[in-house]
Amino acid sequence: MDAGLGITLFRKGGRVAVPVTICCGQCYFCGKSMFAACETTDPERGAILDKKNVCAGAGLFGCSHRYGGYAEGRAEFLRVPQADIGPTVIPVRLADEQVRFLSRTLPTGYQDEVNAEIGARSTVAILGAGQVGLMTASCRLLGAERISTMRSSPQTSLEMRVRW
Ligand SMILES: [Zn+2]
Repeated sequence: MDAGLGITLFRKGGRVAVPVTICCGQCYFCGKSMFAACETTDPERGAILDKKNVCAGAGLFGCSHRYGGYAEGRAEFLRVPQADIGPTVIPVRLADEQVRFLSRTLPTGYQDEVNAEIGARSTVAILGAGQVGLMTASCRLLGAERISTMRSSPQTSLEMRVRW
């Protein structure tokens, strides 16, 4: 990693996890810690492309011009706008394998759990057993009792139960 001019939280040679959401840290929504609704990082105004009368959310890495036209974040090199806001320093004691899912899949799965209001003794059906689906299965930590993950692939159209 290298840090551009004006970046103070990181230094060259360190490791960081960069979230998929790009936020400014200064707008109304960032001030309320609602970073996915950042008002300033989607210069192409996302939803306006669909001619819908809703405000665009934050810019996202790798999600087309609907979310700002930023390049895919899973890359060897990545230019990170607003780099003092989103990225998190990875402690030296953690291996790459331990932090691999911090940028996108684990936060997305966790947000799914929060949006679904999963709590103690919940029964959860997860449609799709990709990376995000499997991360959503961590809802066991929120107290879910029964968790079923289903795949729609013709080769593996079996129900898969994930045990934690
Ligand atoms: Zn913002």
